Amino acid sequence: MITIKEYVAPASLEEAYKILMSGKTNLILGGFGFIKMGSRAVNKAIDLCNLSLDYITETTDEILIGAETSLRTLEINEIIRNYCGGAISEGVSNIVGVQFRNMAKVGASVFSRYGFSDLLPSLLVLDAKVRLYKGGIIDLEEFLEKDFERDILVEVILPKKKGMAVYDCIRKSTGDFSIINGAMFRGEDGQYKIAIGSRPQRVKLAVKAAKALEDGENIETVVDIIPEELHFGTNVRGSKEYREDMSKALVSRMYCKVGA
Ligand SMILES: Cc1cc2nc3c(=O)[nH]c(=O)nc-3n(C[C@H](O)[C@H](O)[C@H](O)COP(=O)(O)OP(=O)(O)OC[C@H]3O[C@@H](n4cnc5c(N)ncnc54)[C@H](O)[C@@H]3O)c2cc1C
Repeated sequence: MITIKEYVAPASLEEAYKILMSGKTNLILGGFGFIKMGSRAVNKAIDLCNLSLDYITETTDEILIGAETSLRTLEINEIIRNYCGGAISEGVSNIVGVQFRNMAKVGASVFSRYGFSDLLPSLLVLDAKVRLYKGGIIDLEEFLEKDFERDILVEVILPKKKGMAVYDCIRKSTGDFSIINGAMFRGEDGQYKIAIGSRPQRVKLAVKAAKALEDGENIETVVDIIPEELHFGTNVRGSKEYREDMSKALVSRMYCKVGA
């Protein structure tokens, strides 16, 4: 069971960060979906609801997604649906159900860097960055390599890329966690990016496989590079060997979809 001693809704990010750092058991609240599954005693639960972080806006070069944006908004927002083929919207549409996606937040989902995330593969192939209150703006790829450090994820930044991205996954049933998932981007300039998640570790880019595609290798050869390049593991959802095999099918499927 989770117990919360005090609920606070600060008026600024600075105040939220100060409260977060003032006690080891203080935490930031997202939609509370994952926190409530655990068992811990929280001193101060910090709600970011007063900080106007529920937005999706565009500048000339970027799309900005506030931390308090729900996964459901990502799924149905026109800007995100029209961005590089709608891979982000497609990815999150697989998460549990609409009611849940109305509640779960982007900031929590990205900051937590879950290995099973259906959001991170698309963000990774699209060169997303994250803005952290203390840590500043860093590439998502770098953020995924980092250890956990207490901070507040303020927004996700997407560069306006020209090209097509797809998300795909293999899961036993709707609502279950992916056994394996991934995303692929094909730029108008011939650039490829491939990300494989739920290995079951955090999503990672398959750099060598993407380079082979750019160099004109055929897809049958490229898929064999994936299990050599990335580490796969076993958990209750699938064995290492199964994931390695399925990664090949997944990448072939995504390659067909991005319109090779
Ligand atoms: C039953 C269940 C099934 C799920 N299935 C899937 C699935 O199939 N695919 C998938 O991709 N995801 C899945 N998820 C994860 C889900 O999509 C969300 O990512 C998760 O619930 C966290 O979002 P939340 O808003 O509920 O965060 P919370 O539970 O409120 O917070 C999660 C963590 O993030 C921290 N946090 C919150 N906001 C911030 C912030 N702005 N900055 C820094 N830290 C922050 C919190 O302190 C906490 O540690 C599932 C979750 C549950 C509970």
